[in-house]
Amino acid sequence: MPHADLLIDNAHIVTMNSRWDEFPRGAVACADGRIIEVGDSDELCQRHTKAPRFDGGGKLLLPGFINAHTHVAMAYFKGLADDLVLQTWLQDHIWPAEQRFLSDQFVHHASLHGAAEMLRGGTTTFCDMYFYEAATARACRQIGIRAHLGEGILSFPAHGHADAAAMIAYNVKYAAHNDDRVRFELAPHAIYTCNRDDLLSVARAAREHGLRVHIHLSETESEVNDCIEKHGMRPVHYLQELGLLGPHVRLAHCVWVDDEEAAILAETGTAVALCTRSHLKLASGFAPLQTFLRHGVKLALGTDSVASNNTLSMFAEMSLVARLHKTLSDDPTFLPAREVVAMCTRDSAAALQRDDLGVVEAGRQADLTLLATDSIEATPLYDVYSHIVYTLGASDVSDVFVGGEHVLRNRKLANVDERELVARARDYAKKVVTQ
Ligand SMILES: [Zn+2]
Repeated sequence: MPHADLLIDNAHIVTMNSRWDEFPRGAVACADGRIIEVGDSDELCQRHTKAPRFDGGGKLLLPGFINAHTHVAMAYFKGLADDLVLQTWLQDHIWPAEQRFLSDQFVHHASLHGAAEMLRGGTTTFCDMYFYEAATARACRQIGIRAHLGEGILSFPAHGHADAAAMIAYNVKYAAHNDDRVRFELAPHAIYTCNRDDLLSVARAAREHGLRVHIHLSETESEVNDCIEKHGMRPVHYLQELGLLGPHVRLAHCVWVDDEEAAILAETGTAVALCTRSHLKLASGFAPLQTFLRHGVKLALGTDSVASNNTLSMFAEMSLVARLHKTLSDDPTFLPAREVVAMCTRDSAAALQRDDLGVVEAGRQADLTLLATDSIEATPLYDVYSHIVYTLGASDVSDVFVGGEHVLRNRKLANVDERELVARARDYAKKVVTQ
């Protein structure tokens, strides 16, 4: 065993492993950004006497959350246009604003802002689809968050790209530098913004370069009806015909998926990222969670962008998912709290094919979130999973480690000036409203 270079002791460890192990007075030893040992606090302190120590203060320590679908650089469009139909919202508000403002610098600044919100909410990895993603990659390395990024692929010119081939080439180019911190993947926007030939090119590029694919699918009922009219089949069948299903593919939304389609997703190992708060705000509908679980579809949770959510809090997402699907199932025993926490940690790591994330155990990345439980609101504490899903929120996150780096310290981000981020967001907002 290598020498530990970080020992977090005196914490209530919630491992999120398949046995649901907890260490109520536990410790985590790390070396070179990875966890090397998890166990009883006193025992680990005796074994790793020379390691620099961080006092967990009796807090809950769990794997950092994974946000499986977002558009982080839309941070400056939060609350810009609400209470609208999806197509009106996109065509009359979001796309024109993007047309006017998007640039490498805008995306860099907005990505820092969004990533800051995620770290402050205990999220250590996110999956993104947007434009100028190289700027988002720089922001991730700067602030210290982990990400899967994909330049949006469209069948029309957009944001400096002449066509889909250029957008695919952009992702392939940056994917050559993939590492554990930032990984590029292919992100075709949707089946209604990418034509058949371009989607076939994406499938081919994914095979040739061994890249993952991230696409929006079946978000609204009209998207499904249009697909049937145009291609004579439902969206999941259409993707299957194009060779765009499999363990390397993650579909965002899947609100309008039927039983047969869910069976295909399970059989092919295709993952689904549910963005429930966004679905409800846009009145897109309710994803068939019970059907997905019955078939064994790989599930993860995402926030979608702050333009449609309007927060990046995984706590808000978990709380809603648990409550909503109990009601829809007419069964309060459906979806126990700990399974919802798994959807943001262990299960989402599996959905990303990242066996180095999502669980506090030896060999995995030291991506760790600590939650304070000494407030009026957080006491008393009987069941940690119940607390995480139903009681706690982003403001209870005190410290976050990503790859063993202490990036949030007692609610202060270590690598950026938060006051500067706030001032810059206000400056951009003035420009957005005066255009
Ligand atoms: Zn989205």
